[in-house]
Amino acid sequence: MNAPSTDFPTRLTFAQAQAIVHAVAAEQRLPAVNVPVARAVHAVLAQDVVAGIDLPSFDNSAMDGFALRAADAGAGVALHLIGEQFAGPTRGLHVGAGECLRITTGAPLPAGADAVELKENVRVEGDRVHLPSALAVGRNVRRAGEDVRAGDVLLRAGMRLHAAQASLAAAVGKAELAVAQRPAVAVFTTGDELREPGQPLAPGTIHDSNRSLLTNLLVAEGLDPVAWPILPDDPARMRSVLRDAGDAFDVVLTCGGVSAGEKDHLTGILAELGRIHFWKVRMRPGMPLLFGRLGRAQMFGLPGNPVAVLATFLMFARPLLRGLQGDTTSLAPMHAQLATPLSKTHDRREFQRGKLAFGNDGVLRVHPHPATGSHRLRAAADSDCLIVLPEGALDWPAGQVVEVVRY
Ligand code: AMP
Ligand code: MG
Repeated sequence: MNAPSTDFPTRLTFAQAQAIVHAVAAEQRLPAVNVPVARAVHAVLAQDVVAGIDLPSFDNSAMDGFALRAADAGAGVALHLIGEQFAGPTRGLHVGAGECLRITTGAPLPAGADAVELKENVRVEGDRVHLPSALAVGRNVRRAGEDVRAGDVLLRAGMRLHAAQASLAAAVGKAELAVAQRPAVAVFTTGDELREPGQPLAPGTIHDSNRSLLTNLLVAEGLDPVAWPILPDDPARMRSVLRDAGDAFDVVLTCGGVSAGEKDHLTGILAELGRIHFWKVRMRPGMPLLFGRLGRAQMFGLPGNPVAVLATFLMFARPLLRGLQGDTTSLAPMHAQLATPLSKTHDRREFQRGKLAFGNDGVLRVHPHPATGSHRLRAAADSDCLIVLPEGALDWPAGQVVEVVRY
């Protein structure tokens, strides 16, 4: 069981493995669905959003005050107050020479008026409004179309939306947006040694921490994962549960059971039930990573060690999930200077943990964590990024610019 035939790619370079993940994501793009604009955050747009109207769509007041003709204004001038126009439907009022209107922020500027004097700057006596000074045309007025012009492309397909982008779509009148369907993701943790947090630990057992690592990473992606009860290292049970999951989900994530131990069954099961895209990547941690197709799902068999789970999720599972949604905007790499030297003992790509901080010279530096074992969850918790040490070089001096992946 744990010695699957190897008629699939194995021991890939990091770049080869990533290329396969990107190709699979591009082939398996999820369909578009309409969602209410108010629920579109984190979703990936499947359409361009083109403005159908100007923003502002009419000249309006930027302040609470008095709408007037700038040509009338001056120190000691008193204008005749003829009415009011508050924010809301336009009342069709007209400001003539020597006149003004009480106005509130966002109210349409009445015909004839071309400036607004602030409420707190004037003195009102009955229907006389005394001005403090002259006023330029356009003062405290927001012009139609100064923010957006009808016909502007505001948002592009492939953008992962943040809240201000969704609200811009609402401002130009969109009630719904076509976005990529979010992948349905199942999470499995495996191992006879695992116990739920909250349960007592018998000797030799540990709490399942990877489930909350994975589900929280997925929630941070805007997804709503389904986590299964812990799977024991029982191939028959794994086979039946995974077969069901492969039919019901877009992506299946397992962790543990993909290395070469006596209890590592998942590679054999995936070879039997589905198709393996690759097994094992020349990286550290995370070398035993397994990727394949299971029913209609794409499956990642992540390694069991917590830091390996973090690294393989961030470097492979997250790009798959984003790629399936057609995300083109959130994958740009980030760089920082090493605060202290780093070295590695092999030529594989390595991911170490570090903490990012701007120095008082304004330079972003990453402070490597001294604990490097892939079981050292606390070191990952005390850090906030992975430091990428590419293939080849073994020694990395302080000051070297390296890629970092925030989590
Ligand atoms: P495995 O790949 O199954 O051999 O697991 C590698 C290491 O990761 C072992 O020390 C496991 O006990 C540990 N491990 C596996 N799954 C989990 C989990 N869900 N939570 C915490 N540690 C785990
Ligand atoms: Mg295990």
